[in-house]
Amino acid sequence: MLINNYNNVLNEVNLACDKAGRAKDEVTLIAVSKTKPASDIQTLYDYGVRDFGENKVQELTSKYEELPKDIRWHLIGHLQTNKVKYIVDKVYLIHSVDSVKLAMEIEKEAAKKDVIVNILVQVNVANEDTKFGLDNDEVINIVEEIAKLPHIRIKGLMTIAPFVDDGEENRKYFNELKQLSVDIKAKNIDNVCMDMLSMGMSGDFTTAIEEGATYVRVGTSIFGVRNYAI
Ligand SMILES: *Cc1c(COP(=O)(O)O)cnc(C)c1O
Repeated sequence: MLINNYNNVLNEVNLACDKAGRAKDEVTLIAVSKTKPASDIQTLYDYGVRDFGENKVQELTSKYEELPKDIRWHLIGHLQTNKVKYIVDKVYLIHSVDSVKLAMEIEKEAAKKDVIVNILVQVNVANEDTKFGLDNDEVINIVEEIAKLPHIRIKGLMTIAPFVDDGEENRKYFNELKQLSVDIKAKNIDNVCMDMLSMGMSGDFTTAIEEGATYVRVGTSIFGVRNYAI
């Protein structure tokens, strides 16, 4: 079932790439495994999947201990400064950096462990009160500040679009994030690359791919609905 679901989503990813005239290897499907057991991850791992997304530090670290070490863990949820030390040397990419303060904490812990941490800057393109992330007009200044930190590499931008019934409604936000990344890239800031765009979830990932996503984060369509009660 799991592998079937995964293949269906991957197939849609590939179709969206075709439709957009993009190469299939430009887009990475991240299987968002939050709340799901390590056994589900192992099943997909055995099938060849390596990119998994988690939104909680504690869940990520406990799954990290239990599962193969060549998994690429993506932290996609809000990160508190006091939790940074647990993950800097375990994550492949932190998608959710939304302040200089958080970046400075990542810098401090990364320096201690002598690692370079790859990050995305989270933007609240739709300006929703309920979501973390920077306002569009704050992004450039904050990227410039974070770019000065030697143990951090800014790889691009991330957004969580509104929850909608029709993914098409989010096209404008995906397009805005892409534009923002193009504008930042044009500034040629040292230590900043804008090649990665993390956008699109179960309800809207095909639209996100058409607008330039390089990472799509899909949970429900692969693992089924989440049960937060257990
Ligand atoms: C849970 C989550 C996802 C996956 O959402 P689905 O709708 O289940 O695909 C993607 N991104 C973030 C940041 C999430 O927290």
